[in-house]
Amino acid sequence: SQSSSDNPKIRTPIVCVLGHVDHGKTSLLDRIRGSSVVSGEAGAITQHIGATVVPIETILAMGGVNKNLKFNIPGLLFIDTPGHHSFTTLRARGGALADLAIVVVDITDGFKPQTIEALQILRGCKTPFVMAATKVDRISGWRSFPSETFLSSFAKQNQRVIDLVEKKTYEIVGSLAEHGFSSERFDRVDDFARTLAIVPVSAHTGEGIADLLMVLIGLAQRYMEESLTLAVDGPGSGTVLEVKEEKGLGATIDVILFDGTISVGDEIAVASSTGVITTKVRSLLQPRPLKEILIEDRFSRAKSVAAAAGVKVSAPGLDQVIAGSPVKVIDGNENEVRESIEREMTEINVTLSPEGLIIKADTIGALEALCKELTTAEIPVMRAEVGPVTRHDVIEAETIKTPYYRSIIAFNTQVLPDAQDLLNEPIYAEMVELFKGNVIYHVLESFLEWRDDMKR
Ligand code: GDP
Ligand code: MG
Repeated sequence: SQSSSDNPKIRTPIVCVLGHVDHGKTSLLDRIRGSSVVSGEAGAITQHIGATVVPIETILAMGGVNKNLKFNIPGLLFIDTPGHHSFTTLRARGGALADLAIVVVDITDGFKPQTIEALQILRGCKTPFVMAATKVDRISGWRSFPSETFLSSFAKQNQRVIDLVEKKTYEIVGSLAEHGFSSERFDRVDDFARTLAIVPVSAHTGEGIADLLMVLIGLAQRYMEESLTLAVDGPGSGTVLEVKEEKGLGATIDVILFDGTISVGDEIAVASSTGVITTKVRSLLQPRPLKEILIEDRFSRAKSVAAAAGVKVSAPGLDQVIAGSPVKVIDGNENEVRESIEREMTEINVTLSPEGLIIKADTIGALEALCKELTTAEIPVMRAEVGPVTRHDVIEAETIKTPYYRSIIAFNTQVLPDAQDLLNEPIYAEMVELFKGNVIYHVLESFLEWRDDMKR
């Protein structure tokens, strides 16, 4: 088969699913997991901690791909916790952890604020992605042909349904154009580097799933190969998805390993609320296959795990670890590793201006995504920090010369009570404007509206 055996060193690309709430992210992931069972390749699929790996053989068996094509990637790793905030938290080396993404949009509902936000985040991270125009089975009159490719099923629809699907697809093309993306239905895309592919799918019937996976492996093959090569060797690097208390184990961390190898006994460094800590890996845990469910222990133990993988790490002293933190195997200079983790936890990759807005956010990734959108809109940012809005922020904002930059954006974060008290004082209430929100698109719109009023 065209498996990774030709080139065992290439690593599995990591894929995230984003999109508006209720548009079908969870259902799509469930279907991707389930489809491989339908295609008769059950067992080939492996359930990781916080992730699912679909091997290339399984994807090829689904029939969306020209089998004569040669693929070097071993498969795709889907992160199971979708949603923008986790996406912006999930970072690797100052960028996005995911190599690729799927943006889900309900074909019957069209664009929503979080759809737009997903696009903005992905543009900011330069992450290649595909649009899944899901719930195609809900187009009125659609006849379902379970698990068939989109084109095969589409060809069997009546003219009215065909026209309706075209109309809905072009509405999505239009919305994408409004946000600066050139797009087309996937089968009409000549150059995937210039044109975003839209794949109509149904998580309920499985139609189009094979095509979606085909476009994804095509993107992986085209753009990722270089960066994915050789990433299996060397000391492990990962990102903490979650910190979880487990019976008999204490605090454990669920990690997506994106680079290298981690082994039992390795010394690791990770960020906690008290600073970077180091500890020794006691055990590496993965879910047990379903057929072994009767065995009392929920986890199976591994001596060593290579990227890309989802793994639970058990080690002493993990209870204060911060989700989203980098985890690194220490191989050589401990101080260098500590410093690199500190940098990744605090440094953002944006240009600050001498005069501009003050931005506060809950995570470094969210902060960066918001700053990038502000920069695109030519709004300068003076200070960007993780944490709540403080009294100091309010005092500083008041000193800004340009009236319409005297503002603070609190993105997904709190305003401390004493900061709020200050904002309520007449002089500050008049001078400093506060924008609070948890959707980039919304805070940006309300800031622009206010600024344009001020300018008038
Ligand atoms: P999420 O919030 O984005 O994770 O959305 P869910 O996956 O939870 O889906 C929201 C609702 O849409 C649920 O009631 C699903 O059953 C339904 N849904 C999701 N995908 C499809 C689909 O392809 N076809 C139909 N008919 N319903 C779907
Ligand atoms: Mg969901």
